[in-house]
Amino acid sequence: MKVNEYKMASSIEEALTTLATSPTEYRMLAGGTDVLPRFRDNLIKEDKILDLTLLKAELGFITMDETGALHIGAMATHQEIVENEIIKEHFSVLQDACRTVGSIQIKNRGTIGGNIMNASPAGDALPVLIAADAEVILISVGGERRMLLEDFLLGPGKTAIKSDEILKEIVLPKVYHVSRSNVKYEGQYRKLGGRKALTISIASVAVLKDHENKIRVAYGALSPRIQRASAVEDYVNSAAELDMDSLYQVVEKCVNPLSDVRASAEYRKKVAANLTRMILMQMRYDFKDESGEGGC
Ligand SMILES: Cc1cc2nc3c(=O)[nH]c(=O)nc-3n(C[C@H](O)[C@H](O)[C@H](O)COP(=O)(O)OP(=O)(O)OC[C@H]3O[C@@H](n4cnc5c(N)ncnc54)[C@H](O)[C@@H]3O)c2cc1C
Repeated sequence: MKVNEYKMASSIEEALTTLATSPTEYRMLAGGTDVLPRFRDNLIKEDKILDLTLLKAELGFITMDETGALHIGAMATHQEIVENEIIKEHFSVLQDACRTVGSIQIKNRGTIGGNIMNASPAGDALPVLIAADAEVILISVGGERRMLLEDFLLGPGKTAIKSDEILKEIVLPKVYHVSRSNVKYEGQYRKLGGRKALTISIASVAVLKDHENKIRVAYGALSPRIQRASAVEDYVNSAAELDMDSLYQVVEKCVNPLSDVRASAEYRKKVAANLTRMILMQMRYDFKDESGEGGC
């Protein structure tokens, strides 16, 4: 599709009015790392671009409110998250995830909002945010609404956004924050790709420990929709002793991977179980078969 109109919004208000007037005509552009290659490959149906670049001043924030909840503006880039002191102190596992996104150029351009709106099952920020029960705030001329990110992401490329809305921010409730001072025992994000750097996930996992010492888990690239892996969480939180065969069985219940050119479904499931065990062992959970052979 040829781009027939390019509009740069100078404020949130202007962007929202544009969307309210012609809700289905514009495709928003933040860092452009995803949307521009798609325009080039004729994968975008809209023929008008609404550039959000100038909204950076309004939507690039990273703050903590008086309740301790973190607020991350949709236009904050992966690199800004990686370098941010508040996130380093209170939710450094998100930095670990954003650090794995693409190259330094992609991290400097790509935004957390774009990562969410892209709704790729392999989006690196998503498992960590979902494991932490992150919420999204959406705005339109009619006002704001808020929902769980897990409910907002409907499947590959699909979200619950309405055509006159902009993703404004992500909110992380206080209780699931992990702290850098003890990060090794409180949460991790790991991904395996086809190579060591600049790689899209074959499988990824976020494991967090919440304020009640309960484990929370979400997998990336293993199902069309990223959701909390409740069977894995229940198993880890209640088993008297962990073992790899049982872990593999509960991981299998929570994921539904595709076989494609990058990996078979079976391989992805094994990677998911192995990554989960690696993180849990680093968080000082013991496995009966600690030598690493187990079921996988
Ligand atoms: C070479 C390369 C490597 C990559 N590697 C990775 C990787 O390792 N891991 C990973 O997760 N991703 C990766 N990506 C994908 C991409 O860079 C990220 O998803 C990035 O976060 C997208 O952000 P963006 O600001 O560039 O989004 P854009 O391309 O600007 O937009 C993406 C989508 O989101 C919409 N959108 C953006 N902001 C808003 C908003 N505020 N409200 C409503 N809609 C909005 C746009 O309309 C568009 O549909 C890679 C991309 C490239 C080109």
